[in-house]
Amino acid sequence: MGQKIVELKMPTNYSDAELRSRIANKFRIKNFSFQIENKSLDARNKSDIHWLLKVFIQSEEIKELVPVTNETLSVPYKKRNEKVVVVGSGPAGFFSAYILQKAGFKVVLIERGSEVEHRGQMIEKFERTEEFDSNNNYAYGEGGAGTFSDGKLTSRSKHISIEKGFIINEYVDAGAPQEIKYLAHPHLGSDNLKLIVKNLREKFVKIGGKIVFNTCVTDLKIKKKKIYSVETSTGENYETDYLIMA
Ligand SMILES: Cc1cc2nc3c(=O)[nH]c(=O)nc-3n(C[C@H](O)[C@H](O)[C@H](O)COP(=O)(O)OP(=O)(O)OC[C@H]3O[C@@H](n4cnc5c(N)ncnc54)[C@H](O)[C@@H]3O)c2cc1C
Repeated sequence: MGQKIVELKMPTNYSDAELRSRIANKFRIKNFSFQIENKSLDARNKSDIHWLLKVFIQSEEIKELVPVTNETLSVPYKKRNEKVVVVGSGPAGFFSAYILQKAGFKVVLIERGSEVEHRGQMIEKFERTEEFDSNNNYAYGEGGAGTFSDGKLTSRSKHISIEKGFIINEYVDAGAPQEIKYLAHPHLGSDNLKLIVKNLREKFVKIGGKIVFNTCVTDLKIKKKKIYSVETSTGENYETDYLIMA
């Protein structure tokens, strides 16, 4: 089986069938499979706006063989007794908690706001009545800031490809559109975000993670220069070996 990666220019309104036929004609192949690796809109010339696609093609009719890198982030599980408290269920806190739980730590994720469903109701109420909930609003509550946006996936770092791939796959598993795997400017979509956050939470809980909502971390207990417990607004303290403030 041969394979190649090619760059193709396609009109802004192309269909999947047109892309397939373009590949067939350009490379004179009939039986093949393909997958878009990257898709970005080239609008530099206003009279020639088009998609630029990077496409991975596989076919018995192709002689070449390009090396395929399928490097993925591996999170090896090991039974551990150490406790980790993560403060904040935004993207940074959630994925720290999720990965550490997968790796075998005993993780408690503490969030000052509510589950995303109730948070959404409080935001709707605020928009109707201007009654402000200081724990459930556009910045606070499950999912963190940006949960009630259109979810543009942006990252300033160019050096996190394996981690980025892991997070994108988790988003897709949780209900994000497949196209975020290859679009240059991917969106999770405002209608999808609440469901994605809920599905990710359920996955975390299923692997043994604990989430405590409506609980604000108010202080840290330190002995011999080491944090050993966090104090919260509910009066409950959480002992821990490690703390991530996210
Ligand atoms: C309206 C809006 C739209 C946005 N749209 C986009 C976008 O489209 N694309 C994009 O890339 N970025 C967007 N952003 C920015 C993006 O949301 C942030 O960069 C991102 O949320 C930062 O993630 P984080 O996990 O570091 O922190 P946060 O998301 O801020 O998460 C922190 C969490 O900690 C909780 N918390 C805070 N203090 C405590 C405490 N003492 N105890 C317990 N819990 C606590 C909060 O409730 C919150 O859930 C948007 C931001 C806003 C406000």
